Amino acid sequence: MLAPALTNALTIDVEDYFQVSAFAPYIRRDEWDARECRIERNVERILQLLSERQVQATFFTLGWIAERYPHVVRQIVAGGHELASHGYGHERASDLSREAFHQDVTRAKALLEDLGGQPVLGYRAPSFSIGVGNLWALDVLAETGHRYSSSIYPIQHDHYGMPDSPRFAYRLENGLLEVPVTTVRMLNRNLPSSGGGYFRLLPYAVSRWMLRKVNREDRESAVFYFHPWEIDAEQPRIAGIDAKTRFRHYINIPRNEDKLRQLLDDFRWGRMDQIFLARAAVPVAKPA
Ligand SMILES: [Zn+2]
Repeated sequence: MLAPALTNALTIDVEDYFQVSAFAPYIRRDEWDARECRIERNVERILQLLSERQVQATFFTLGWIAERYPHVVRQIVAGGHELASHGYGHERASDLSREAFHQDVTRAKALLEDLGGQPVLGYRAPSFSIGVGNLWALDVLAETGHRYSSSIYPIQHDHYGMPDSPRFAYRLENGLLEVPVTTVRMLNRNLPSSGGGYFRLLPYAVSRWMLRKVNREDRESAVFYFHPWEIDAEQPRIAGIDAKTRFRHYINIPRNEDKLRQLLDDFRWGRMDQIFLARAAVPVAKPA
């Protein structure tokens, strides 16, 4: 007999196309307000897509966005989704002092809770920027009332990653739950299989195979993520960027919405808090 299908976590990092970390060398922070904003229409499309399929998801939202587009936050909450934090200003946690990180996550949490009218329990660091050099950030998250984080990516990557850390949800000694985005274990390595540029790059059948493998062989819920700008083929092009950044950002965007629809149909999806916070038994571990 087949085991019942696991529910996987669908997560959206709510930030606009000009805020991605890879563009930081090209777009100054003080230019953000002057850029054409695409977040409203893109989040609306996502909410429509989810409501058609009666899927509830977790939206890791930037405080910067919430402050300027409060109705986007209210629409997310009204749709029955979990509102979680992506920090205030999308600075990599690894670029901030402990004090500055404390300020950033406190400010974002307060803003989101004010607008959303519900406690914000989850946090995801911009660009998965918690790792060996700044594990203190996990203590700051616990101190500031977060219950879980999804910030340590157990892969090798040029911008982030902690390849030997646990692949599935684990409890830290400070009580915080860390829920990594999903990898597949192959050839003695963890391969990214949970969204972002990899999902756009790989044929859909490969992504589906990897998520099924996690559900069937690891018997674990997967954590998948994407960004609103990843379904926006009409976003303004950023000029003068290097070839690698251009490839990573724009590859297969026009096809991505169709792939996401297929993904929503092929698996069962839900919110991070409902899948992971209710679990009775979670192994205690240290990121390593
Ligand atoms: Zn981000």
